[in-house]
Amino acid sequence: GLRVAKRLEEVGFSDIVRVRNRVLELRSTGEVIHAFHGGEPFFETPDAVKYAMMRALVENKTRYAPSSGIDPLRAALAKKLRAKNHLDANVEDVLITSGGAHALYSAFQAVLDPGDDVLLFSPFWTPIREMINGALARPLLVPTASARRNGLSATLEKMASPHTRAIYYNTPQNPAGIVFSREEAEEVAAFARERDLIVIADEAYEDLVYDGEHFSIGSLPGMAERTISTYTFSKSFGMTGWRLGYLTAKEPFITGLRKLVLYSVNGVSTPSQWAALEALSLPESYFEQRRVEYKERRDLLVAGLNDLGLECELPQGAFYAFPRVQSIHKQSRKAAEILLEQAHVATIPGTVFGAQGEGHLRFGYGISMDAITSGLEALRRFLGR
Ligand code: PLP
Repeated sequence: GLRVAKRLEEVGFSDIVRVRNRVLELRSTGEVIHAFHGGEPFFETPDAVKYAMMRALVENKTRYAPSSGIDPLRAALAKKLRAKNHLDANVEDVLITSGGAHALYSAFQAVLDPGDDVLLFSPFWTPIREMINGALARPLLVPTASARRNGLSATLEKMASPHTRAIYYNTPQNPAGIVFSREEAEEVAAFARERDLIVIADEAYEDLVYDGEHFSIGSLPGMAERTISTYTFSKSFGMTGWRLGYLTAKEPFITGLRKLVLYSVNGVSTPSQWAALEALSLPESYFEQRRVEYKERRDLLVAGLNDLGLECELPQGAFYAFPRVQSIHKQSRKAAEILLEQAHVATIPGTVFGAQGEGHLRFGYGISMDAITSGLEALRRFLGR
């Protein structure tokens, strides 16, 4: 009959869209909205990358490229993955995707069969749950905070089922800005090796760590063959709209992944790939500058929230703060609604990121210092403090 495939019936839309639409609606009536609901960098695509795009167009780099990506970009990424992530990556192990989302979607499609289970640290980036559902697999939620207190291996051991096939491992993490330590990566890796599991590593925020260092789980012994590591140009380079990402994996996964890209998009936009090469030649000082700017924003926002009695741990990476907001309302969905409607402060309810986010709101701080200051002012007026 006239129905979509069963696997799509399992998939939902994100409630983030609902917040975004309500913000647009309020703005169209002339209201000023303090926008902490987004997940985009505050800076624009570097000029060097924009000019490289223009050059690529003028030079007619506008035809089909190899579906796995142009060789110079794959080679440059392999080099980056070796130097920066300490991964054992060669040109043939790299696949260009349409953003990190497409890399992750492909990864789940490449490894999951119906009935498989995936260990998913919660709270999590919402689309991951839907990608797992869409593969007719089941997410097994691992409460991150208590797992970190009680030991990751013990908790993973407890949550895993006989059908567990993969672990989604996101660091720096969205929505709470958690950065897993090298020791934690070693624990997760040991568990994956022992149970013969695949790790899908999401390193979208690798360049945005303010305390400590980013560590790639795929660089640990025995992990190269069982890790699909995914990356994006979105967050490091202010290129969210370009839809450029990549992944690295070994056989048999990389061949499976190449087929998925071949028969879905048949390769990512050719001129964009040439432009992306330019992003990879930015100096280390570029990343350092971004980190300084983000850290400034983080410190301003988190100090302000704590001042207002919205208890907030210091996120170590990415660009989100995840304070407790029970003093506004017990339910985070209601708290977000109250703040948006009454204080014109837009946030995302913690429960959007899984039940473990209850009692929290996500504040994105990829916005200007002035916007953070005036948002905190609006909160202060509303809370009467
Ligand atoms: N992974 C995480 C944790 C994210 O938060 C995002 C974007 O918000 C992505 C991956 C993918 O981003 P994109 O598809 O823009 O590369």
